[in-house]
Amino acid sequence: MSHEKVVVDHNILIRELEEGLDAFAQDFPLANFQKGDYKQYPVITLLACSDSRVPGNMVGSLFNRVFSIENIGNQVKTGEGSILYGLLHLGTPIMIVSGHSDCGAIKAASSDFSGEPDALKKELETVKESLAEGVKTFTGSLSDEDKVKYTQLAELNVDVQIDYLLGNPEVKELVGKKELFILGAMLDLHDVYGGGYAKTYLSNINGEKNLDTIKGFSELGSLAARANRLT
Ligand SMILES: [Zn+2]
Repeated sequence: MSHEKVVVDHNILIRELEEGLDAFAQDFPLANFQKGDYKQYPVITLLACSDSRVPGNMVGSLFNRVFSIENIGNQVKTGEGSILYGLLHLGTPIMIVSGHSDCGAIKAASSDFSGEPDALKKELETVKESLAEGVKTFTGSLSDEDKVKYTQLAELNVDVQIDYLLGNPEVKELVGKKELFILGAMLDLHDVYGGGYAKTYLSNINGEKNLDTIKGFSELGSLAARANRLT
């Protein structure tokens, strides 16, 4: 498991960071914030990979809209408490579990990570268990081409996360009452699905993986047309 270090001009990095902080304060929607009594009203709980190519704003603006949980390989177990807070206390009507192409965590969990620090090993072990679970129930075959294979695994991993969430009786009840929709999404950064770079597909809804079933979810409106899977 290795990755090339980024070469960066430190001064530019600091200046950009300051500019970013200033821009946030400048563009801050204060009037709306005050109207809402300074509280948070997120509508989406998002579980995504920490990968910097998977930014939360792939689903639009973030401020007071998205309750975000990010960890390597987008694992429910690694951020379970935070996720349940979003679903059960903040009551977001939508939960998105997003996987992506070329996921380093999926690749690392599929290789030897025994030399990593304990905390990292623990998180990768969780990813590894999810992959094993996903492959166990998969009746198709994984591609010989790494690029496709790891994206297939990322897709199966999303399914496993959603099934795990549905194993929580309170979450299941919300889904049953249609107060919560759990969407599985695949951010195809590398055009593995063939529809173009950075397209997001809907691979799962409330545990349903059948594309026609996903497309039949009238509650999803035109979003349902994004239904697509490799596996
Ligand atoms: Zn990733």
